[in-house]
Amino acid sequence: MVSRVIPVDPFDLVIFGGTGDLARRKILPGLFRRYCSGQMPETAQIVGAARSDMDDAGYREMVAEAIREFGGGRACEDGTLDAFLARVGYVAVDAKGEGGWADLKGRLRDDAVRAFYFSVAPSLFGDIAERLQSFGLATPASRIVVEKPFGNDLATAQALNATLARHFDEHQIYRIDHYLGKETVQNLMAVRFGNMLFEPLWNAQYVDHIQITVAETVGVGGRGSYYDKSGAMRDMVQNHLMQLLCLIAMEPPARFEPDAVRDEKLKVIRALDPVDPHHIVRGQYEASAGDGGYREHAENPRSTTESFVALKCHVSNWRWAGTPFYLRTGKRLRARTSEIVVVFKDAPHSIFGAESGRHRNVLAIRLQPNEGMTLDVTIKEPGPGGMRLVDVPLDMTFAKALGPEAADVPDAYERLIMDVIRGNQTLFMRGDEVEAAWAWTDPIIAGWQKRGEVPKPYESGSSGPEDALMLMHRDGRKWRDIRA
Ligand code: NAP
Repeated sequence: MVSRVIPVDPFDLVIFGGTGDLARRKILPGLFRRYCSGQMPETAQIVGAARSDMDDAGYREMVAEAIREFGGGRACEDGTLDAFLARVGYVAVDAKGEGGWADLKGRLRDDAVRAFYFSVAPSLFGDIAERLQSFGLATPASRIVVEKPFGNDLATAQALNATLARHFDEHQIYRIDHYLGKETVQNLMAVRFGNMLFEPLWNAQYVDHIQITVAETVGVGGRGSYYDKSGAMRDMVQNHLMQLLCLIAMEPPARFEPDAVRDEKLKVIRALDPVDPHHIVRGQYEASAGDGGYREHAENPRSTTESFVALKCHVSNWRWAGTPFYLRTGKRLRARTSEIVVVFKDAPHSIFGAESGRHRNVLAIRLQPNEGMTLDVTIKEPGPGGMRLVDVPLDMTFAKALGPEAADVPDAYERLIMDVIRGNQTLFMRGDEVEAAWAWTDPIIAGWQKRGEVPKPYESGSSGPEDALMLMHRDGRKWRDIRA
């Protein structure tokens, strides 16, 4: 299969925080890979902006190093890195100061798409947005890209939205949730709305329950003190898991267009019931051989922040009334995997008798690793000995089904940055979506704080606390194994 790369229009992309971790690990290597693929035009320009005193040559060296370290395995022709670096420059700018802004303006062209990536702490978003306007860098067609976390609760998200809205229209604001840039996430929409097979069964009548798991093997590492103020609920559930839940539960939008899709996602969040405190389990990973536990990593021996959450929730609308959604995410778990599992109901009557056991169709959509889908179907176990039934997966791993090129898809950041240049907001969160997600999350966190709840310890390398298994067991259900 030959991938089709459609070049984007000429653009100027300014990366505020161009010397930071995110820029070096994701944004710059991602841009380089898009350059290698031919998607980025020769006239594109990338300008790093931060306080550090550096000239273009110094910055290019830093970018080259970042690409060598984090560039990924894709092959590029000799000389491509130099050609890419020729498109890269740097201007020293302090988000809170007055110096450098006029220089930066002088670098920008009137006839190119203009995008400003805010890869800095959210506390600087307002200062940058204000100066982009006051120094005349922003045009009505300019775009700004803002990173997570988008607020720490509803009040801070509202304040951040209000700050940005003072300087930019909503159609200019691209709030990144990199989960939405993953290939399988978009494929989820293709599967649901491009096939006749699934959508008629996609409701409470046929679906027993849905599980969403985002499991990591890493701990909080060097981000411990930052993470300790956040926790899994804010860091993962409020944004990534909530977005996946929306895409799985939403009604078909009339068109695959930004506001049509985002309107439907918003309706899902607004239809979420408050979560019963008995339906949430929080956990904290323990020390393992040779490594500390969460509290050591967070440098907070009394921390009550969770590195694991499992919960059951309900989307109260006609489609989903009565179907539970189980969400689970955590660090230091058995394997790194992100998966959405749709478990269909039992057939209404088994003609094979009780001894044939319980068999259910299960659609598992894997976001990582090995992006793809499996559909468990029940068949007769081959061979003599009567009618024994067995569940067999129809395997739709993309790399197997579509050839190795299908596995070589742009990573989420690459895709999303190109969407910014194209002016396509479909895979970005709208301000009201973010606020609605916080409005659902806030009371859960407030409840923990009010009740003084302490997370349950769990073994590193396990599936999380025992209580998380019980959450489903009590309902006569079972989590799918966490496996790579
Ligand atoms: P970082 O490594 O601390 O980098 C911060 C950047 O901001 C540096 O380039 C720094 O350069 C610049 N900066 C700081 N103060 C500035 C000022 N007053 N004016 C201009 N530039 C200033 O942070 P990061 O990890 O890259 O994260 C950036 C943003 O992305 C944060 O909002 C973070 O939450 C978000 N994010 C990061 C990741 C990740 O994997 N790192 C993932 C998701 C979201 P100077 O010191 O030279 O000014």
